[in-house]
Amino acid sequence: MIIIICVNPIIKKYYGEDCINVFVNHVIELEKKFKQLLNVNIPLRMTDEQEKKFQKERKCFYCNKSLYKLAEGPLEKNKTGHVWFIDKVRDHNHYNGKYRDSTHNKCNLNAKQNKFVPLEIDKKLILI
Ligand SMILES: [Zn+2]
Repeated sequence: MIIIICVNPIIKKYYGEDCINVFVNHVIELEKKFKQLLNVNIPLRMTDEQEKKFQKERKCFYCNKSLYKLAEGPLEKNKTGHVWFIDKVRDHNHYNGKYRDSTHNKCNLNAKQNKFVPLEIDKKLILI
């Protein structure tokens, strides 16, 4: 049996009776490496231009709904009788620290980055 492991751009070929064990051990090693890569949380880094854009932004990047809504209830009203509730957070990529856009807090939490790397096995690459 031949097994070919391809983690772009690395391609490994292995021939032998124990190829399944070699394959599984290789996947376990890859898991350890990816776990280290995915276990980062780089703080947000914004340019002045991005901060200005964030301050002006009125729609959520994810749901495209308003980031502002008129508050309701007597305790929330000011002297003019109107209070704007602002639900706006800075969404950023935790792997590189880059600012993405302004979002609702809830939308930002729902859009968490994947903490897994899918494993795809192509039958054409396994030769018996
Ligand atoms: Zn939203």
